[in-house]
Amino acid sequence: MFEPFRNEPFTNFADPGNRKAMEEALREVRGRFPLEIPVVINGERIHTGKTFTSINPSRKDEVVAQVHAADAELVDRALDAAWKAFETWGRLPALERASLLIRAAHILRRRKAEVTALMVYEVGKNWAEADADVAETIDYLEFYAREAVRYAEPQPLTPFPGEINEYFYIPLGAGAVIPPWNFPLAILTGMSVGAIAAGNTVVLKPASDSAAIGFVLVEILEEAGLPPGVLNYLPGSGSVVGEALVKHPRTRFVAFTGSRDVGIRIYEEAAKVQPGQIWLKRVIAEMGGKDAIIVDDRLNDRLFEEAVKAVAASAYGYQGQKCSAASRLILLDSIHDRFLEALVEEVKKISIGPADENHFMGPVINASAEAKILSYIDIGRQEGTLVHGGARVEDLPGFYIQPTIFKDVAPDARIAQEEIFGPVLAVIRAKDFDEALKIANGTQYGLTGSVYTLDREHIAHARREFHVGNLYFNRKCTGALVDVHPFGGFNMSGTDSKAGGRDYLLLFLQGKSVSEKVR
Ligand code: NAP
Ligand code: MG
Repeated sequence: MFEPFRNEPFTNFADPGNRKAMEEALREVRGRFPLEIPVVINGERIHTGKTFTSINPSRKDEVVAQVHAADAELVDRALDAAWKAFETWGRLPALERASLLIRAAHILRRRKAEVTALMVYEVGKNWAEADADVAETIDYLEFYAREAVRYAEPQPLTPFPGEINEYFYIPLGAGAVIPPWNFPLAILTGMSVGAIAAGNTVVLKPASDSAAIGFVLVEILEEAGLPPGVLNYLPGSGSVVGEALVKHPRTRFVAFTGSRDVGIRIYEEAAKVQPGQIWLKRVIAEMGGKDAIIVDDRLNDRLFEEAVKAVAASAYGYQGQKCSAASRLILLDSIHDRFLEALVEEVKKISIGPADENHFMGPVINASAEAKILSYIDIGRQEGTLVHGGARVEDLPGFYIQPTIFKDVAPDARIAQEEIFGPVLAVIRAKDFDEALKIANGTQYGLTGSVYTLDREHIAHARREFHVGNLYFNRKCTGALVDVHPFGGFNMSGTDSKAGGRDYLLLFLQGKSVSEKVR
């Protein structure tokens, strides 16, 4: 049937041909700005006339798109369309749905350079980060297509004399998908296509900062032949369109990825049964992190060097704007000073500038993120000792913040507890490995974590006790791959789901047990 799933390879931009193709794509895409992004309901493009702008955070005067905003009335219409489409989409053989998604993956491969370029502009990812996001998007399409077929197979049961028994999965219905801007195509696609592959229909409210790149999913699924109404696209503010979707009595499920506070609010609001509502909404919420890397003193020189590079990559890749980013570095006392010195040398090499110029670091997403991160840097000055960075980069045309390191941070300090979502690293000293683990576990989150050590007992101990959804040894704590590292966290990091894993589609399915007495 389908070839076995394999992860989409990353583009090697050291190759002059690939570099040239990317430069051309960047030129071509910029030539089309500003894009105009509509609302889409039942395949119909709606220009509401109430528009907001999506800007390039690298060059904040550049408008990437004018986006038409939906409202509560359009949420109602979109749910009508989604339920109507569900009548046929939900009954289609899984293989047909899967084939469509695999066609969409091919279309995206064809458009890869152009879509990567648009992402570079709209959210300030450098080339490799944007390319990885598009590769992950392709992976979700390919992997969830195969998973839909697997879940459609008859499920095993214990035989019972005199009865023919069956157990199979059916979709839930029409639901809401509410993604963040930081993996603007991958996460948006993962959640939408997870639901759609399983036979559901979707009203997708993209993050406002990335509504142009989110529209790419609408285009590629349409081109692949997705029937109208299966995916409806409703840009607009979270507090208007998002809230209306979450509270609507005909919303069957909510798939959300974003911050802790919004996740909590959605969980609460979705739990309230509205007049006319005949189910309890299912909520899948993937939330924030306060991820730690522990560096043990049981290292050789080579692993020490690797750890230094991995900490810099995990903390400052995409400006620290990943739920998986390292925001705490826990150093064993005996190597603390030497490691920190090496880290500062490494961080000094980081280049910062517009994402289209492909620096290691670009801008943070918008003015309010910049203000929030700078306010945490002020808090850090009270709570710790500034070792590196600590300010805006003034002579650049967007929202740029220096890679920042604080040392002497107490485990319970605010900068060691609260998600900053920017390039700020809190360094915490631990007297031994047990204390390091205790510090690592001492937040309300539990998303990713990483340990650098050669000590097998420490590895075994952390494997059991480090309470995170994604634990890594001797590698960075970012960069999870679909079906290689199923991704998602514990505690306030969400509802314990695993994106890109074999349990994920179950979140959008319900089991039906059928028994017939033989006569
Ligand atoms: P966010 O502010 O929570 O927004 C996420 C989405 O929710 C956006 O589409 C937003 O719309 C919408 N929204 C806002 N308020 C809402 C409301 N009251 N009701 C319904 N929807 C609402 O998060 P973000 O800044 O986009 O993303 C960063 C956060 O996501 C970080 O905390 C990060 O750790 C987390 N994250 C987690 C994972 C994971 O897998 N666990 C992955 C990636 C990111 P607007 O854009 O219009 O405000
Ligand atoms: Mg933008």
